[in-house]
Amino acid sequence: MIERIDHVGIAVQSIDEALKLYQKLGLEVEGFEEVPSEGVRVAMIRCGESRIELLEATRDDSPIARFLAKRGGGVHHICLATTDVRADQASLEADGVQLLRPAPTRGAGGCWVQFIHPKSAAGVLVELSEEDPC
Ligand code: ZN
Repeated sequence: MIERIDHVGIAVQSIDEALKLYQKLGLEVEGFEEVPSEGVRVAMIRCGESRIELLEATRDDSPIARFLAKRGGGVHHICLATTDVRADQASLEADGVQLLRPAPTRGAGGCWVQFIHPKSAAGVLVELSEEDPC
């Protein structure tokens, strides 16, 4: 079950540069994390019950590096918090919705994540994220 917008992911050339604006707005960084499997460094900024996720590439062949090369910085994805990402995947696949991966993978914060292809979501990459209580 989808619960809320968990975060909006924004691809940036430099987290340090991009952070300045959000700090001027009085928002605070919840934490930094590197996800080597995705070639990305992440800063999570708390914004009420949602968050802003700044994404910086850590290698030239990562998905974020390719996004930055193609489009420059900008909104990369929105993330919906779900209670059961595997159940969502099953029902979406049954409805013919195109997903990015054959199964959920570990994302930032140890969550289980899956992505809906922009072709199936009006041009927007949609992340589904389930918190892992372990
Ligand atoms: Zn995300």
